[in-house]
Amino acid sequence: MDSTVHQPKAPVRGRLAPSPTGHLHLGNIWSFLLCWLDVRSAGGTLVLRMEDIDPDRSRPEYAEDIMRDLEWLGIDWDEGPDRGGPYGPYTQSERLDRYAEVMDRLESMGLTYPCFCTRKELRSLASAPHAGDFGPAYPGTCLHLSPAQRAALVAEGRHATIRLHGTHDNVSFTDRLRGTVTMSWAECGGDFPLRRSDGVVSYQLAVAVDDMDQRITSVVRGDDILHCTPRQILLHELLGATPPLYAHVPLVLDAQGERLAKRHRHYEIRMLRERGVSAQAIIGYLAARAGLLAAPAPARPQDFAAGFDIARIAPVPVILEPDIEDILAELSRR
Ligand code: GLU
Repeated sequence: MDSTVHQPKAPVRGRLAPSPTGHLHLGNIWSFLLCWLDVRSAGGTLVLRMEDIDPDRSRPEYAEDIMRDLEWLGIDWDEGPDRGGPYGPYTQSERLDRYAEVMDRLESMGLTYPCFCTRKELRSLASAPHAGDFGPAYPGTCLHLSPAQRAALVAEGRHATIRLHGTHDNVSFTDRLRGTVTMSWAECGGDFPLRRSDGVVSYQLAVAVDDMDQRITSVVRGDDILHCTPRQILLHELLGATPPLYAHVPLVLDAQGERLAKRHRHYEIRMLRERGVSAQAIIGYLAARAGLLAAPAPARPQDFAAGFDIARIAPVPVILEPDIEDILAELSRR
């Protein structure tokens, strides 16, 4: 008898993981809506996690506004900073002791090394194959420093970044939209920081530890993060955890083909709301772009949960029409 047949499937747990470094825009909501539908269609649990690990860029006011925008849109969650849950705290800045504990563990396993390269030195690296935004792959400059060389650099007053030494040449994983994705360690940026020289824990470490500790089984997020996934999978493996299933959804671009960013103020949810755009217009517009409606019409997230299948989302960017604001205004009047 096939023993796998009777194994109960683990309940689905997904997460919305905004960084409170700005206001939510249409691009964030596109990913969050698809994540919400994926989890709700499976009867799963949604965690809201505030990724405020970078003290220079995060602000508590943004966290408040993010929760307000999500609630207004009808994208709800079951566990989070505002309502607690069994795997809290759900705000990264409240979990620093836990990250330090994991750092110690990785250090004691001999998997890390101090890197004394300055930003300037890193910037001047010759361009090497890489994917994503983080520039050339780190070539391992500080990997083979002797203890004496390290001590000398510390004596000079240099503070070290702690990097994880990659143990695989290639990492493959299955993405629910793209199928098998294989990337070399260099394409993922090479040995990456776990802790910056100013003591701030890296996004990669915090996300992997949180996904592990919060029992996340399914990650739906923008495909700008695809190149980070091999790093996070490696962390799960080194820490003895099963990585979640990943789905990297296409990005939303403006009519010129640029990624939505802070300067696109007019695509911020709060801005649209102030201009009289309704929550149902935003959801209905995005649902139509996801192929869930034949044409945009006012709608609520729960209208699409039954039978939702993330694998059917076309892996091509969503390009906003030049007159997107008029489209949303017209939908809001219906
Ligand atoms: N906090 C990240 C962001 O806002 C998302 C991280 C993730 O989904 O893994 O870009």
